[in-house]
Amino acid sequence: MEIIGSGDLTAGKKIIAENFANWTSGNEIIDNFIQEKQLNYDASYTKYGDIKAVFEWIPYNELIGIKELGKSCFATAIWKEGPLFHCERENEWMKKSYEFVTLKFLYDLQNITDEFINKVKSKSGVIFGISQNPDTEVYLLVICDKYFDHYCKCGNVYDQSYYKWCKECRINQLKNNFTNWTSGNIIFDHFIQKMQLKISKYYDTVFEWIPYNEIIIIEELEHYTSAIWKKGPLYYTDDKKLVRKSYEKVYLKYLYNSQEITDEFSNEVESYLKSGVIFGISQNPDTKVHILVFYNEYLICYCEKCGNKYENRIYKWCKQCEINQLKNNFTNWTNRNEKVDNFIQKMQLNINDYHDKIFEWISYNKFIIIKELENYSLAIWEKDNTNDQKSVGKSREKVYLKYLYNSQEITADFSNEVESYLENKVIFGISQNPDTEVYLLVFNVEYFDRYCEKCGNEYDDIKYKWCEQCQMNYLKNNFTDWTSGNEKVDNFIQKMQLKVNVYQGGIFEWISYNEFIEIKEIENNVLATAIWKDGPLYYSSIRMSYNREINIKVILKYLCNSQNVSHLSLSEVIYSVKENYGITQNPNTKDYMLVCKIEYYCEICGKKYNNQFERNNKSCISCQTNHENKKIHDLIQEIKLNIDHNSGDFDIMFEWIPYDQFNDIKEIGKGGFSTVYSAIWKDGVLFYDCNPFKTGWKRQSNTKVALKCLNNSQNFLDEFVNEV
Ligand SMILES: [Zn+2]
Ligand SMILES: [Zn+2]
Ligand SMILES: [Zn+2]
Ligand SMILES: [Zn+2]
Repeated sequence: MEIIGSGDLTAGKKIIAENFANWTSGNEIIDNFIQEKQLNYDASYTKYGDIKAVFEWIPYNELIGIKELGKSCFATAIWKEGPLFHCERENEWMKKSYEFVTLKFLYDLQNITDEFINKVKSKSGVIFGISQNPDTEVYLLVICDKYFDHYCKCGNVYDQSYYKWCKECRINQLKNNFTNWTSGNIIFDHFIQKMQLKISKYYDTVFEWIPYNEIIIIEELEHYTSAIWKKGPLYYTDDKKLVRKSYEKVYLKYLYNSQEITDEFSNEVESYLKSGVIFGISQNPDTKVHILVFYNEYLICYCEKCGNKYENRIYKWCKQCEINQLKNNFTNWTNRNEKVDNFIQKMQLNINDYHDKIFEWISYNKFIIIKELENYSLAIWEKDNTNDQKSVGKSREKVYLKYLYNSQEITADFSNEVESYLENKVIFGISQNPDTEVYLLVFNVEYFDRYCEKCGNEYDDIKYKWCEQCQMNYLKNNFTDWTSGNEKVDNFIQKMQLKVNVYQGGIFEWISYNEFIEIKEIENNVLATAIWKDGPLYYSSIRMSYNREINIKVILKYLCNSQNVSHLSLSEVIYSVKENYGITQNPNTKDYMLVCKIEYYCEICGKKYNNQFERNNKSCISCQTNHENKKIHDLIQEIKLNIDHNSGDFDIMFEWIPYDQFNDIKEIGKGGFSTVYSAIWKDGVLFYDCNPFKTGWKRQSNTKVALKCLNNSQNFLDEFVNEV
C-alpha cells in the first residue's frame, strides 16, 4: 500500500475529474456510468469494514497472471496498478498495487443495458471496476477477492458463510447428480430426489440411494439389524471439506410392507431427516424388500419397540409404549367400583413425562399403619408388583393416608384436586378400607413439604411452610385475652394483625410494660432502649409452631402526646408497621410507646436509619463519624508525641491536612486495596530547621507528595490506623 498524494477528498476528486480526458472504455454508457460513480465517490465503508475503492475503467493489460477457474466464467488475476481509495482518518490518497482480484467474464453481455448498470451498482464497493478483453471484446468485472468470503460465485450471499455453503448451488449440484444413480424404480427415484431437494442447511443430511452391495450386515437384533455402510455418509471436516466417512456403523429397518410410497411413509422419512437420524434407503435385490438406513444414534432418539421418538431421550421413555403397558395392566388390578376404576384409568393415561407419577389402585392390606395423626395416618406401604417401573427395587415406602370420609362420588373438583397432586408429584394413588368402605388417598412423604398439615391446603409460602388461613385461626384462638385498655388502640392493633403476617415480618402485638427490663432513656420522654423478656413471635417451619425469641433488645419510641393516642400518631405507624413489634403503655405515666425493632434504629442516638449502609454498620452516619473522628484525633496525637525533636535529625511534623490544601491531584496507580495519587501540597511540609542561625519550625511550600487513598477506609478504620 502506498500513499500517492495527501489532501482531502474534494481536492482528490477534482484531480480525478480532470483525468476524465485521459481514459475511455470506448463505450459512452460505460464512460458516463464510471464518471458519475467517480464524482460521487465518498470514501465510505463496505459492510465488511473496508474503505470502498474508486470505481474505475481498468485497461485489460493492467491485469496479469490471469488463471481461469475451471469452466466457469471466473478467473483470478493480479491488478498491477491496484485500487485507489481515500483514507479520511489519515487524509491521504492510497493505492494497493499488485492486488489479487477475481475476474468475472460477462460472456452473455451483448450490450451495456440499464439492468447491467444497476446490477453493478448494487455490488458497489466490492467491484473495483470494469475491463474488456480487446481480442474477444468480452467485458469483465474486476472484483475484490474478499467479496468471495461472503458471496458465492453464483452471486448469492452464502447461506452458511463459514462453510461457504450456498443452498442454490448445492441443490443444482444434487440435481446434476440425479443421473449418476438409480434405485431401479422410478417411483423410488422420484421420492429420493424429492427428499434430497429438501436440504436447507449445510449440515442437513442428503437422503441417498444406498446400493445394497455397500452394506455389510453384522447382526440381526429384535427390531433392527446392525450393519456397516462401506462408502459411508457425507460430512464436513474441520477444514470445511465435504467428505465421506467410510465404514460407518448403521442400523437397518426392513420395510416389509411398503412397496408403495404413501404420504405417511414420506412424512416419516422427512421427520427422520429433520432429526438427522437417517442416511438413506436401500433394497435387498433378492427379496426386493426396501431398507431404511439409520444413523448410529437413531436408537438414542427412537423407541426400539415402536419406532416413535422418545419423549424422554435420557431415560429412553416412550409415552405410547408406557400407555400400552398401563392399558395391558388394567385387568391386573381391580376394585369393585366401576366409576373409581374409570377414574384411576383416566388419571393413569394422563401421563406425559417419564417423571410423572402413575396414579395407582393400592390394595388396603398393603399398608401397615404406624401412627394416627389428626387428619392423616402415617403408614408403611409394602409394595409388590407395582406399575411404577421407576421405583423397582424400592419395595417399601413411607406414606400418608388421607381418609375421604365425605366423598363417595368422584366430582370434577375431586378429579382436579388429584390432578394437581399428580402434577406436584406428591400422590401414589387411591385405596379403600374394606371394613369401613372409606376411600383414602395415598401421599408420599414430600406431601407435607407443600401442603399444610393442619388444613390440607397448599402453603401460601412453601419455603417457610406458612399457611395464612391457619395463622389467622391461631391468632383468633390465642390472642383474645389481651386489651390495651383503650378501645381505639385495641382496634388499631387488631387491624395491624390482619395486615401483616408472621412470615412477612412478625405479628403486631399489645405488649405489657412489665415485659421490659433495663429501660434506658436516650432522650427524655422521646426514646429509650430496653430488653423485651418474652420477645417477639416467630414461626418455626421445623416445629411448625409459633415460638418466642426471648430477651430481645428493642427501642421504645414515645408516641407524641401519647397519653391520649391520636389518630394521627397511629396512622404514622401503619407505614412502618413491619419495623415494629407492637404497642405498650407505661402504667405510671400512662404514656403509650411504640416497640421498635433495633435493626431499624441507631442504638447510640436512637435515630431511625436512613439507608441500608447505616443499617449494615449498626449505627447512623453521624454516630459513625464522631466515633471515627475521635480515632483519627487520637492517632495524630500519638504520633506527634512519638517524634523525638531532640534527636538532631531532620524532623517532619505529622498533622491533619485539609483536603483543599492539595492541588494538581493525579491518579498514578491503583491496587486492590488502595489508589495512589500525586499532588502538590500548597502550604507544604512542616519541618524543623536545624541551621544554628535560624532554628525553628518552617514550611516548605508546594511540596510534591503522594496520596494513598485506602478503598473502603470508612469500613476499615482500624486497619487504616494500624497501617499509618
Ligand atoms: Zn451459489
Ligand atoms: Zn415405543
Ligand atoms: Zn393450613
Ligand atoms: Zn446514631
